[in-house]
Amino acid sequence: MYRFSSVYLNPKGSPIRALYKHLSEPGMISFAGGYPDPQLFDVEGLGAASERAFANSKACLEYGATEGTPRLKEAIVQLMHERDVHTTPENIIVTTGSQQAFDLVLRVLVEKGDSVFVEQPTYSTNIQAVQAHQAQVSAVPVTAEGMDVQALERMLASASAQGEIPKLLYTIPNFSNPSGATLTVERRIRLLQLAVQYQFVLVEDDPYGGLRFSGDAVPSLMALASQVPGAQDWVVHMSSLSKIVAPGLRVGWAVAPVEILKRCSVAKQSADVGSSPWVQGIAAEYLASGRLNTHLGHICAAYGAKCRALAHGLRQELGDAISFHEPSGGMFVWARLTGDISAAELLTHAIARGVMFVPGEGFQADGVDRFTLRLSFATPSLEEVAQGCRRLGEALTAARAARSPQALVA
Ligand code: PMP
Repeated sequence: MYRFSSVYLNPKGSPIRALYKHLSEPGMISFAGGYPDPQLFDVEGLGAASERAFANSKACLEYGATEGTPRLKEAIVQLMHERDVHTTPENIIVTTGSQQAFDLVLRVLVEKGDSVFVEQPTYSTNIQAVQAHQAQVSAVPVTAEGMDVQALERMLASASAQGEIPKLLYTIPNFSNPSGATLTVERRIRLLQLAVQYQFVLVEDDPYGGLRFSGDAVPSLMALASQVPGAQDWVVHMSSLSKIVAPGLRVGWAVAPVEILKRCSVAKQSADVGSSPWVQGIAAEYLASGRLNTHLGHICAAYGAKCRALAHGLRQELGDAISFHEPSGGMFVWARLTGDISAAELLTHAIARGVMFVPGEGFQADGVDRFTLRLSFATPSLEEVAQGCRRLGEALTAARAARSPQALVA
């Protein structure tokens, strides 16, 4: 009846949203969503920022500039400066979450059939975003030290031999969703050199960089681009207030070369005219209040404790049935079941015991590894983390029992 576009004929949707219905089950402990802990929101600071923003009610209630209000753009310049990225308001577009920034970048750069490289595993929604633009997606493997840049080099050499150099490479270099991995400085530099050599746009998605709870900060690709001749022309940096302040604001941004940015601004006009000036006012007031750094100290300590509790609980309850690297920031542990029980099989038994996680297949462009899973430690309390791990241990025992010959006979 309806003649849907081929892209939305049978859309897959997010693997996380598919689990939503179980979230409201009584006593459910969720390691599934990448949601900040609502107990940690700076409600007082945001409430006060909101009141100050609305004092300028006429500006809040009117349409604003498509690329963002000057005040918020200035505040973002300042925030980026603190992160060693020296930029100007002309190089910034404010977006409705960093999710929109990626959509705009894809709109202005990617056409049907173009080659786009992503990491494997990577953020599931952005695999879908690339697929929605009908690009050819190629997956670059990730190790504990982030993207395997040597594998990338090989892929680029062979793509170049076939005249199919990617237009764009999408990476989450800090505490990646879902892998938790952080790209080393050496690999970052090499990646920048490759972007210059092969002339592809390097899209750096960095919503989690502010959430480091151990080890030393690593400069962003955009900060390092000034050290690699020509690289500044090839990096687009996206970030967001979602994970460090509150996702309900829906405030994100991109820092990019002007040639790319001015086209993103035209694309944004037809997407939403502009992000809410009211909410941008709240974000600008909040950033100007100087509360962010104290708040970050507070939430990083809390997430660090939860991450350690999860790592401890997994080791204690699942032992060598699971392998993973403990991240130094962010919200996610990426794990692999070492036996023959798949993540989906474990999930069925886990949900029955009141605990949830996301099977890893949705985070893989080619969806081949059925034994991986993503666990987020951000939302549950410390007690819930420990309890959730006990339930996971029980779920594994149940999954094994359901497989055993006796169970089959009985
Ligand atoms: N990129 C990554 C890697 C994410 O994990 C998320 C949120 N889960 C986003 C982008 C989108 O974030 P937002 O639109 O809220 O800024």
